[in-house]
Amino acid sequence: MRIRNTLSGKLEEFQPKDPGVVRMYVCGPTVYGLIHIGNARPMVVFDALRRYLEYKGYRVIMVQNFTDIDDKIINRANEFGVDFRDVAETFISEYWRDATALGVRAPNFAPKTSDFVPQIISSVEKLISKGYAYAVDGDVYFDVTSFPKYGELSHRSTSEMISGARVEINEKKRNPLDFALWKAAKPNEPFWTSPWGNGRPGWHIECTIMSTELLGSTLDIHAGGEDLIFPHHENEKAQSEALTGEPFVKYWMHNAMIRFSGDKMSKSIGNIFLLREALKRFGADALKLFFLSKHYRSPIDFSDEVVSSWTKAARRASEAFMRFESKYPLISVPKNDHWLEERRAEFCESLDDDFNTPKAVALIFDLVNDLNRSMDDGDEEKALKIYHLLRREFCPVLGLFEVPSQMGKKSIDEVLQILIDVRRQLRSLKMYDLSDRIRLELKERGIELKDKPDGTDYFFTEEV
Ligand SMILES: [Zn+2]
Repeated sequence: MRIRNTLSGKLEEFQPKDPGVVRMYVCGPTVYGLIHIGNARPMVVFDALRRYLEYKGYRVIMVQNFTDIDDKIINRANEFGVDFRDVAETFISEYWRDATALGVRAPNFAPKTSDFVPQIISSVEKLISKGYAYAVDGDVYFDVTSFPKYGELSHRSTSEMISGARVEINEKKRNPLDFALWKAAKPNEPFWTSPWGNGRPGWHIECTIMSTELLGSTLDIHAGGEDLIFPHHENEKAQSEALTGEPFVKYWMHNAMIRFSGDKMSKSIGNIFLLREALKRFGADALKLFFLSKHYRSPIDFSDEVVSSWTKAARRASEAFMRFESKYPLISVPKNDHWLEERRAEFCESLDDDFNTPKAVALIFDLVNDLNRSMDDGDEEKALKIYHLLRREFCPVLGLFEVPSQMGKKSIDEVLQILIDVRRQLRSLKMYDLSDRIRLELKERGIELKDKPDGTDYFFTEEV
C-alpha cells in the first residue's frame, strides 16, 4: 500500500514499525457542542482506513482523544454554571450517539485530556530540564528555536508560520512561535497544581502525551483534518521528538476540508450543519458514500442535491441486497475462483493507491448493477458471488450498509400515512370490513392505530 505522507509530500510504501501491527492516532473533537458534518469527514475516512488495514490482515490499535479542557468548554460551563466536566461528559455522550448513528466504530482507546494531567506535568518538567521549554509567571512555553526541524511538517518558513493561523501573540514568549505547554489558571477556571503554580495543560501537549502513552514513542499513522497541520501537528511533533528523541510519526495523513457553497465550513462563518440533522435528512450510508466518493485529500463541496443523489444510490444497493435475500434465502459461501480473486485485486489496487476510495465506490456500484443483471438472468451462482463480495467484504470494509437506514423509517412513515388515509375513506363509505382489516394486519406487524377525534395516530409496539 502507498500513502501520501504529509511530512515528505510524497507517496511512500506503507510499512508499519512492527510488522503486522498498525498504531494509529486521530485527533478527536473538543467536546463543547454537537458535531457537524465537517467533523464527520475524518471520522468516516479514517474508520474506513482502519477497517481496510484490518481486511489486509493488520492488527490495528486506534486511539482517538477527547479534548475536555479548553477555553470553549470552560466558557460553556461558566455560562450554565456547571463544572467543565459536566459539559464535556454531556457532549462525549452526544458524540457516541452520533458516531453510532453514522456507523463509525469506536476506537480501541478514547482518552480524555483530564485523565492525563500528571503525565502531562511530568513531561513538561522533562522538556524544561532538557532545555526545550521555559517557565514564565506560571506559564510554560516550548522554545521553537531549540528544535531545528520546526516547520518540517507544515513545510512553512518561520515568517509564514508567524503570520499563520492560531499563533497567539503574547509578550511573555521569547519568540512569537513559542507555544504554551502549561497555562497559569485565570479566575473561574478549573486548575491542577503543578511546579509552576495552579494551571492547566495547553492544547497541543495533550495529543503528544495521550498518543505516546498509549501507543509508544513512534506512531505508524497520525491522521486528522488538514486544518490541524499547523500549528497543532507541527507542535505535537516538536514536543514528542524533543521528549523521546525518536521520530514521532511514520505516516502523517490529512483529509481536506468540506466546503459549504464554496466556503470552508466552520463555526465562525455560521454554516453549521449538525451531523444528526444530516443523518436524519440523508441517512448514514448516503453521507458515507458522499465522503468516500471523493479522495480524502481533495476538498468536497456539500450540497443537498449531491448528497440526495447518494441517498438514492444507497437505496438502489439496499434494494438489490434485499431482492437477493428474498429470492435466495439460503446464503452459502461461494467457492473461491479466478473471477472473485480478480475483483478483490481490483478493489485492493484502488485502496492501496493512497486510499483511493472513489474508485472502490465505483466498483461497488458496478457490482450492484451486475447483481441485478445476474438475478434477471436467473444466474444464481454468479449472483451469490457478487452478493458475497459486496455484503461480506467490500461494503463492510468501507463501513457501508451496516446501520439500519433512517430513510427506511421515513418510507415506513410515508406508507403508513397513505394507509391511514385509505382507511378513513373506507370508513366514510361504511366499508368497515376493509378498514378493520388494515388495522388488524398492521397490529399483527407491531403497528397500532389509535383513532382520535382529529385523526389517527400510530405507534410501534415492536422494532420495525
Ligand atoms: Zn491532536
